[in-house]
Amino acid sequence: MGALLTLDQVKVHFAVRKMLFSTQTVRAVDGVSLSLDAGETLSVVGESGSGKTTLGRASLRLAPITEGHLAFDGQDITSVREGKLNWFRRRAQAVFQDPYSSIDPFMNIQQILEEPLQIHNIGDRTDRVHQALEDVRLSPAGEIALKYPHMLSGGQRQRVGIARALILQPEYILADEPVSMIDASSRTEILYLMRDLQDRMGIAFLYITHDIATARYFSDRIAVMYLGRVVEQGIPGEVLDDPLHPYTQALIEAVPEADPTNRLRDRPAVPGEPPSPANSPAGCHFHPRCPQFMAGQCDVVDPMLVEVRPGRFVACHLYEATKDAGPEGSYVETKAEKSDDVQT
Ligand code: SF4
Repeated sequence: MGALLTLDQVKVHFAVRKMLFSTQTVRAVDGVSLSLDAGETLSVVGESGSGKTTLGRASLRLAPITEGHLAFDGQDITSVREGKLNWFRRRAQAVFQDPYSSIDPFMNIQQILEEPLQIHNIGDRTDRVHQALEDVRLSPAGEIALKYPHMLSGGQRQRVGIARALILQPEYILADEPVSMIDASSRTEILYLMRDLQDRMGIAFLYITHDIATARYFSDRIAVMYLGRVVEQGIPGEVLDDPLHPYTQALIEAVPEADPTNRLRDRPAVPGEPPSPANSPAGCHFHPRCPQFMAGQCDVVDPMLVEVRPGRFVACHLYEATKDAGPEGSYVETKAEKSDDVQT
């Protein structure tokens, strides 16, 4: 069986005005290939500005794809007219970062959850709304359905956001930083809930996060993004415990063990500032910040993303230089067991 979702060399470039008569191109996503199987979770991690949110939006055709292809369930939907995408909109949903702005404050929960059912002309709405609320453990469903968003806590509002994504019984959910704006105790509960829903319903997730701890907990595979590109990819036990790319190594080293929030966004994760995606450095885009920079190679030649072991990808000249000698360590071909515990 083929992948449920496939991105093939996807680029999302924007033209932005530089001065009065000139523009420059922002390469938010710059040639990313990823696939997601049914029931699988792929986490995309990286600093702010790495392009991971734009990539997630492109996976739902919410960001315009400049080049490359997007396919869902074997059908290329890169250029399909929006009016012909109803089937895809029903099967692919999103949970966004901000539960405060992603739901309408003037609608009650019943109305918020009924809206997708109305759009797709689906009946039994009250029953489906109550079922979705019970699925996200908001009860009693009948009472919650009559409340307005301001009457709920941040964690409860995000549960409503998840219920709205679930109500169409999707096969794929983009979860874009779904726990980053809620308090720490609710964050853990929401992550447990999402994993439980995935186990019970077999939903595939693209989990966008800056939080390595939750990526380890929630993922079958992890892709690390830097400046619009994937620089490393593999199963969590390999990428996080034996990172190959200097950027991945720096991201992991920057997360203090004692820091209970393990958050990358609020601190300088890696020395130096990421360059602008409108002005990417020549050669390896990471070279101005890389402690293992090799002059004459890294600043000249753009490293390709290569499969250095089955299922393990990295874009770095260091590894290319040594891969012929054979990778050290053992490779685990099956998916890693997800960690049982999450630290947030
Ligand atoms: Fe560092 Fe060179 Fe590897 Fe880029 S290619 S990550 S600059 S060693």
